Amino acid sequence: MKANHKKRVSAKRFLNPCFLKHHLSAFSEALAKKGFTPLTIRGYVDSVAHFGGWLQKRGKLISDIDLDCVNEFAAHHCSCQGGRRKDTVSRKYVKRVLTFVMYLDEQRVIEVKTNVNEPMPALLTQFATYLEERGLRPLTVKRYQRSMLLLLPKLGTSTEKYDITVDHRTR
Ligand SMILES: [Zn+2]
Repeated sequence: MKANHKKRVSAKRFLNPCFLKHHLSAFSEALAKKGFTPLTIRGYVDSVAHFGGWLQKRGKLISDIDLDCVNEFAAHHCSCQGGRRKDTVSRKYVKRVLTFVMYLDEQRVIEVKTNVNEPMPALLTQFATYLEERGLRPLTVKRYQRSMLLLLPKLGTSTEKYDITVDHRTR
């Protein structure tokens, strides 16, 4: 695995992740550690590389990454380099980018702003109570809530469809 990693045979097939390159490598390693298959990881790398290329094209910096920015990406009429067949990006595709953005937020690379004045959805309040009951520290609970807040508008509330990379070490 490690040896193949260096080869990056298909790197040319992907868009250039530009300034996200370093974070994208770390992210894909984190996914591998969580047991994601190489194929799945490639899907993430492809999506994030596209996101990086798009950011670069729009003259955006890493500090510009926020939810609006992801929404803009989700809606962009794609004419980016990389030979994509479709000119729109799918929900699944955007979800991968969101997972990456969450990762950057968790790593404290960026701080994704959520609208704190908005009342917390009932689902998240229940979630927080559940986590607190399981002995998680308030700060950790807040971070989980924030991550969920990021994802809810994109994913909707049908929770059975969620497969975000929540850390399961609390087991
Ligand atoms: Zn594009």
